[in-house]
Amino acid sequence: MTDATIYYDDDADSTVLDDKTVAVLGYGSQGHAHAQNLDESGVDVVVGLREDSSSRSAAESDGLDVATPRQAAEQADLVSVLVPDTVQPAVYEEIQDVLTPGDTLQFAHGFNIHYGQIEPKESVNVTMVAPKSPGHLVRRNYENDEGTPGLLAVYQDPSGEAHDIGLAYAKAIGCTRAGVVETSFREETETDLFGEQAVLCGGVTSLVKQGYETLVEAGYSREMAYFECLNELKLIVDLMYEGGNSEMWDSVSDTAEYGGLTRGDRVVDEHARERMEEVLEEVQDGTFAKEWITENQAGRPSYKQLRAAEKNHDIEDVGEDLRALFAWGEE
Ligand code: NAD
Ligand code: MG
Repeated sequence: MTDATIYYDDDADSTVLDDKTVAVLGYGSQGHAHAQNLDESGVDVVVGLREDSSSRSAAESDGLDVATPRQAAEQADLVSVLVPDTVQPAVYEEIQDVLTPGDTLQFAHGFNIHYGQIEPKESVNVTMVAPKSPGHLVRRNYENDEGTPGLLAVYQDPSGEAHDIGLAYAKAIGCTRAGVVETSFREETETDLFGEQAVLCGGVTSLVKQGYETLVEAGYSREMAYFECLNELKLIVDLMYEGGNSEMWDSVSDTAEYGGLTRGDRVVDEHARERMEEVLEEVQDGTFAKEWITENQAGRPSYKQLRAAEKNHDIEDVGEDLRALFAWGEE
């Protein structure tokens, strides 16, 4: 059926973390969840944050020990790097000489290792445990005795224990409760970037905006266009999430099903497919990574511009007004 290996709680041996201290660097989305879940799983945790970090008080009031990233890494046998990807190379510079042979450098995304922005010492294990979910869900699921699906990869394994350590870490944050898929740094990085660019974040918002603009330019009301092209997307995606495309097709009307099956591929056609292949190639050959790294080094000029333009799109104003009028925005 499936070609990837999937690990569950019984496959993980928690005792490999018994005599180890884990440093969690960063206390944002993933950091706060990993640190608290590890702590409650009985793992010795220290959070690494800059002296002037605004996250310090949060970590302390959650009852965790806090040190600087360097001090935390020095005390630790496993260092989980959960600061933003763009900041990780600088943080690695700061901690690399306190990493000792047999220590484990752990990531939640493969970008910096895969694209050579961090060149880890050969004497340390390099692992990835990447929950397939934002941090607040990793935390909430753990508290509800539920799991969060995740990925496990080993980049280098000088101690021979990297895989077991990664699996034990995945168990301690609650991922093996749901299932952990074996992958590689390359596969995780390239599929993650492609997915967010072509389908999830980029593809979907472009599809929504083009649909909205088509209706509005044809004279339909902005409110109707917003409902049809953006708001209802959630209902469709919920069905896809529950039971795949077929559950969605089964749940909509026959008219919607026939119309969608005959028109969908006309809109997202072979040209879109060719563009997707280009986007994938730019991910694979490092063009995208290079562009993003350069953009950051330059202080993010294009990024800031694109962000502002997206916020100024007409669909944002309509959405704000509609969400204020209707109650569906509240949980
Ligand atoms: P984040 O932006 O939520 O938090 C980063 C934290 O790092 C901040 O809260 C702060 O404590 C610290 N920090 C920020 N700037 C810093 C600096 N200049 N120096 C030192 N510390 C600094 O980050 P995140 O979204 O949790 O991402 C962490 C890692 O997890 C990344 O590798 C990311 O790709 C990965 N990841 C994120 C998600 C997600 O949904 N957010 C999901 C899977 C994997
Ligand atoms: Mg992702």
